[in-house]
Amino acid sequence: MEMEISIQNEINQIKMRKPHVVILGAGASRAALPNGDKYSQRIPLMDNFVEILELGDLLHDSHINFKSDNFEDIYSKLYKNKEHDKLRSKLEERIYTYFKQMQITDNPTIYDHLLLSLRDKDIVATFNWDPFLIQTYQRNASRFMLPRLLFLHGNVEAGYCEKDRIAGINGNICSRCGEALKPTKLLYPINKKDYHVDRFIGLQWKELQYNLRNAFMITIFGYSAPKSDVSAIELMKLAWGEIESREMEQTEIIDIKSEDTLYNTWKPFMHTHHYDVHRSFYESWIANHPRRTGEAYINQYFYTKFINNNPIPKDLSFSELWKWLEPLQDVEKQRENDK
Ligand SMILES: [Zn+2]
Repeated sequence: MEMEISIQNEINQIKMRKPHVVILGAGASRAALPNGDKYSQRIPLMDNFVEILELGDLLHDSHINFKSDNFEDIYSKLYKNKEHDKLRSKLEERIYTYFKQMQITDNPTIYDHLLLSLRDKDIVATFNWDPFLIQTYQRNASRFMLPRLLFLHGNVEAGYCEKDRIAGINGNICSRCGEALKPTKLLYPINKKDYHVDRFIGLQWKELQYNLRNAFMITIFGYSAPKSDVSAIELMKLAWGEIESREMEQTEIIDIKSEDTLYNTWKPFMHTHHYDVHRSFYESWIANHPRRTGEAYINQYFYTKFINNNPIPKDLSFSELWKWLEPLQDVEKQRENDK
């Protein structure tokens, strides 16, 4: 057997059946849309949330002393006191409206490159409320089989039919009962989140945990595990981090934070695993082995072959990008037909 796997070898292989699980935080949306959305609306983080969404007047009128500008702190304080319920629902309404009207930019973004580089056995789970991932999905789904999306804190673009347990685009019609899908609730930053109270969110977590147990690789992209997400970290740990016998699985982190900060954040979560840190999406395993992350993994870690990168081109238009990726999907379809 040859010691080296060429790009063409990699393209022609379909071996991996297990999912690649990708977890997205606010940093991923910021990397995908560094200059804001199509209308230059900025994507907020917890620290500048109040400023960007212009919530200052509402908070000021409440005469509550918040002591902090951090939205996580502010919201937790409001949540603890029933008297503040009215203000809280006003804030929630503004937040929902802000995210709901956002639009992805016209040219391919990191989100397009991410979804197009994975297959339909894979999972992209996001903590973000913004609509960009679903908008990305919609503009590529007629051409390519794409990974399944999960919304761990709800999403402004996701809808759900309680009765039939069917999820889809917010405002679309349920394929079973014909009624409009209901908007999903957003889960706000409080310390003890109960992921089971809301049906839709409960199901998202169940599916994430199932897939984490089976995953050959997880990629954590721009997610900083804030202190209000302890319950989230616990749930992920249960499914992934504490299974000592799974030494072979690979974890990669895409983040611009310092290596020390990242190590401290993720140490309790993956102390038994090997992990890689990348500063940019384009350095990641996903971007360098589009639609073949599992095959590259098998070649490198099981067969200890020398593998070559097949980086997804960054600057192509949609039609050029789709054309570049077509041969990869052709092999996938061919394998499906062979079965
Ligand atoms: Zn229905």
